[in-house]
Amino acid sequence: ATILEQGNISIHTENIFPIIKKWLYSDHEIFLRELISNAVDAIQKLNMVARTGEFSGDLSEPKIEITLDKEQKTLAIADNGIGMTADEVKKYINQVAFSSAEEFVEKYKGSNDQQIIGHFGLGFYSSFMVAQHVEIETLSYQEGATPVNWACDGSTEFKIAEGSRASHGTTIILTLQEEEAEYLEPFRVKELVRKYCDFMPFPIALDGEQVNRQKALWKESPSSLSSEDYLEFYRYLYPFQEEPLLWVHLNTDYPFVVNGILYFPKLRPDVDVTKGQIKLFCNQVFVSDNCEEIIPRFLLPLRGVIDSTDIPLNVSRSFLQNDRTVRRIADYIAKKVGDRLKELYREDYPAYVQSWQDLGTFVKFGSMNDDKFKKQVEDILIFRTTHVADATTDAPKVQVETAEGDVWQDNTQENNAAALPYTTLKDYLERNKEKHENRVFYATDESAQATYIELFKSQGLEVLFMDSFIDTHFVSFLEREYSDVNFSRVDADLDDTLIDKEKESEIVDPSNNKTRGEQIKEIFEVALSKPKVTIRTEALKSDGENAPPAMVLVSE
Ligand code: ADP
Ligand code: MG
Repeated sequence: ATILEQGNISIHTENIFPIIKKWLYSDHEIFLRELISNAVDAIQKLNMVARTGEFSGDLSEPKIEITLDKEQKTLAIADNGIGMTADEVKKYINQVAFSSAEEFVEKYKGSNDQQIIGHFGLGFYSSFMVAQHVEIETLSYQEGATPVNWACDGSTEFKIAEGSRASHGTTIILTLQEEEAEYLEPFRVKELVRKYCDFMPFPIALDGEQVNRQKALWKESPSSLSSEDYLEFYRYLYPFQEEPLLWVHLNTDYPFVVNGILYFPKLRPDVDVTKGQIKLFCNQVFVSDNCEEIIPRFLLPLRGVIDSTDIPLNVSRSFLQNDRTVRRIADYIAKKVGDRLKELYREDYPAYVQSWQDLGTFVKFGSMNDDKFKKQVEDILIFRTTHVADATTDAPKVQVETAEGDVWQDNTQENNAAALPYTTLKDYLERNKEKHENRVFYATDESAQATYIELFKSQGLEVLFMDSFIDTHFVSFLEREYSDVNFSRVDADLDDTLIDKEKESEIVDPSNNKTRGEQIKEIFEVALSKPKVTIRTEALKSDGENAPPAMVLVSE
């Protein structure tokens, strides 16, 4: 088509502030995060300058100070960082912000999805979400620099005048809007500093007192940290919670930057496993409590922190799910978790077994959901077994205080679990291949199936326990995975309607004067020669409590 006219799109700057105020960020409170981030950057930059030898002043006390004045309705943030010359103020505060805004409006005008707004050099302008007037007092670190004062009342006009700062750095003074008075309350400001800036690398003080914790444990080298360091950090992040089972320190620079510490909590019923609990950071700045898109679904119950500059932070959730880097980060996390589990298996098997009830859920769920993870952990997948039949009774007894005085009792449940042996599927099949090749007997309910378990045990047959809440699904998964292995539940097909009476080849009745041992032997001699066998117990006969149930053998 014929071009009728060509030109530059012009921007009405007076339209920009309302857009920024309305759409820049979903939450007004993040202005504080933005201004403190700028202060951290300013100190960081001065450190970098110093490394080149261009600055030889004192760097030993980096600090960011927040001052609240209820009378004047001001909130001020001061740093002793790099500062700005008048030219830099014009360039970075006036110019760049406007040109960034230009880009912003060009791209997103009309959109009301706050999440889309990235880092367009607009952070500073978020102060206008809460302030009616913003002033900058700044002095550059450069020799001979003069202090500058910049002021703006949220209109498109600014004033630059001679400033009053005597030492290098910048002070941003916000005169808050009437309806934003909450940011004059020390407890509110403290709360925000803790939420967003707790792990920023320089001290942030309010009324002379440091508010942030400052130390980001995940940035430290794992070899310099003790178990107590990790546990203390966990208690700090999740107060009043049970100790975690183990943790993984993530630490990579290539092909993406990911730092973090992930903890496995005990999976108690009150732990919500459907909601992510990991805190997401970007350069030690808190971003979100929710990074469900970044970690694999089966690791959702994990806790801790992930810090990455490679996760696009202000984009929509559906975009994140499809982002290649995000998917690779998720894979990386799964792999590191698998590695850590294997390490524990190798180096502290008793601890591994002790935690298996919880860890097993992750491992099984992960195996079902992620093929790569499955391959990684299949050799460390264990099942409780009857193999060492006497483990329960042989477990050391413990002295327990009761109302009747001290008594000796069976070991505590937890210790019992550890005392009971576990096995991998591979070892089970290998151990039993003479007796029943490619065949696994398992129980899903230890007390309800006690009779059957006893029956198998007394015949020297090994039974695995698949009795955790995830095992119903997991057994079907195993059946698909090991298509040549037959998994038989010890009490399979108890339901009478499932039993084909015609196929009831043997009935062992307790009234025929055989001892229980003889009955059992008889059953198993037949059972082991059949491809599939169902054993059914009849209701107890009337000849006394101790009479064994009649057992019906059904073979196909
Ligand atoms: P961004 O941080 O993404 O660059 P901002 O709008 O937050 O965007 O800040 C714009 C620029 O203003 C910064 O890049 C920096 O050059 C300058 N600036 C802002 N705050 C400070 C400060 N406290 N000290 C020195 N320079 C600052
Ligand atoms: Mg910024």
